[in-house]
Amino acid sequence: MEFACSHVVCNWRPETITEGLNSTVPCSGSDVFIRSTSTKEHPYDNRIAVIQQPVHALVPPPLPPRQPSRKHSRPMSLPPPVPPRGQGNKGEIRLKANVNVVSLSVGSLVDIYKASSIKCNQKPVRCENCGAIMTSSASNLQNHQNVTVWNCEFCDGENVFSQTETGGLRPSLRPPTGRDVLYIDEDWDGDYENLEDMLVVFCVDISGSMSVTSEVAAGNSMRSPTYVSRLQGVQDALQRALSSLLQTSPHRRVALVTFNDEVTVYGDGTGVPLSLRDWALVDYDHLQAQGEKYNTPHCIAETFQSLSQKVKELREHGATSLGPAALISVAMASKFTGSKVIICTDGRANIGLGQLEQENSHAPPQSPYFYSQLANYAAEKGVIVSVMTFEGEDCRLAEVGRLADHTGGRINIVNTGTVATEIQTALADNVLATNVVATLLAPDGVYFPYEEENHKLVREIGNVTEGVEVTFQFAVRQARVESFQRRDRIPFQLQLDFRTRDLQKVTRIITQQKRVTTSSYVWAGSLNMSVLGVHCAQLCARLTMEGRIQEAQNQLKAQQDLLKDISEQKPSPKEESVYGNWISTMSMICEDLTADKQSLSDQAANMVYQMKRAKSIGGKKSRPAAMLEG
Ligand SMILES: [Zn+2]
Repeated sequence: MEFACSHVVCNWRPETITEGLNSTVPCSGSDVFIRSTSTKEHPYDNRIAVIQQPVHALVPPPLPPRQPSRKHSRPMSLPPPVPPRGQGNKGEIRLKANVNVVSLSVGSLVDIYKASSIKCNQKPVRCENCGAIMTSSASNLQNHQNVTVWNCEFCDGENVFSQTETGGLRPSLRPPTGRDVLYIDEDWDGDYENLEDMLVVFCVDISGSMSVTSEVAAGNSMRSPTYVSRLQGVQDALQRALSSLLQTSPHRRVALVTFNDEVTVYGDGTGVPLSLRDWALVDYDHLQAQGEKYNTPHCIAETFQSLSQKVKELREHGATSLGPAALISVAMASKFTGSKVIICTDGRANIGLGQLEQENSHAPPQSPYFYSQLANYAAEKGVIVSVMTFEGEDCRLAEVGRLADHTGGRINIVNTGTVATEIQTALADNVLATNVVATLLAPDGVYFPYEEENHKLVREIGNVTEGVEVTFQFAVRQARVESFQRRDRIPFQLQLDFRTRDLQKVTRIITQQKRVTTSSYVWAGSLNMSVLGVHCAQLCARLTMEGRIQEAQNQLKAQQDLLKDISEQKPSPKEESVYGNWISTMSMICEDLTADKQSLSDQAANMVYQMKRAKSIGGKKSRPAAMLEG
């Protein structure tokens, strides 16, 4: 868990975002607003500083450990800056944006072999009321004659454990020491699964439009330019992918599915192809059953020749039954956790399930539901779906992209020249964990704006590949601000449930205490720009996808101001330009959407989906400038 601010700012209110923006005079108006808030709405600032946290709260919160080299730029021995209120002094946060943001590097957290956590084979002791897991820092544990009473620090609920129930007080009720504990479920009854046993399904569009050609560089100015059709481009890309799989992973099972007016399942290319058409293309259960019972393909070492031949013979014509083909491909892949489906298409789905062309204006297409349903099914089975669409066509990527967005796959707009590389990249992604669910607990009185009204947030993440980062913001309810300010610290607990690739069921529990402060004591330069930048991109992208454009724009505006404040205090040009670019890109997309009330173009949808999974730059855990490659 990495927090954007070292303290919990307990007096941030969501209205500040919209209030500030609604002012009639944008610049001076918002200044007036800030002053009035800091004097009227935050009457606690001095009180908390003097009574509760005499010195610590006044010292600017320390920089996050990510950039230790900068730690010394600001001597800690300096007298704490006392923020003169209402003078717009530098560094004082204009609390329009919420800086209570936490980032979870899920991609690293699920790597239990690198984890420094304490491993524990007991069952965790849970609060009956809120599900919090008891940790060693639970100070409010009382032993009575025959019972042990634990007052949960998250919900204040009282948990009484009888000694017969727990087999006595002893080890079973004594939580392991440490703030990071791994509970590994020993008695799972899953079958042993060979990790090599995963499947790659190429799901390829062979509709008529795939015959569109484009010019490719001749490589030699003396020769006349060559024209290559989209299908030829894909065929070439598939041949290369097959060869490289044969070289690098000869045990990998590979299958081919094509679609136009009908769906053809070639499987590993050695048997008679299965064709599905007409009614079969609108019957979800039938397609799913056909996929699930389809013969398990043999490994590429045995099937290379026949698959390669099938790819060579592909011819394009007809319509685009993308939905049914995607469904049957996912069903085939669902037999092995970590399998991949790579969809390659150039047109809008227009036959069978998941049609994206309206037959008449009165009947809205049901496709969004279809793609969400299919995405859930894939994620549940640990299948990664990647979607490649050809540039220059409107494929309704906003809809089809859900498949990739929800399963950890890639979304790319390709052309005949880039499709091969993109397929290779998609093949290289590996699932690190499946069925990932993050539960974040804070004390009662905290809530999660845009997510959850309660103090307990549950987010289903599904498949996790390398580098995945998830961010949330939290806030303290207005009615509870005062009581929170009387507390020195408040606890946060992350419960990360997942299955590893070797199918162990794991729960990782990380518990942290955070100090409490108010807005006036937050020094902009101390904030973690990376956590804030990633959160802004992810949140605004999500809001945009959900059609909540106005909210996204308000967020963007608030974050823009905040990042500006931070960069004035603590310049870091690279981060500024990257996060700044994200914000401008999102702002442009939102403006376009507001202006013409249109649905997202494929280009815009592509950008928004990349933003949804934005990752921090710099630091050791991610490659520079790699965060938006998708
Ligand atoms: Zn509880």
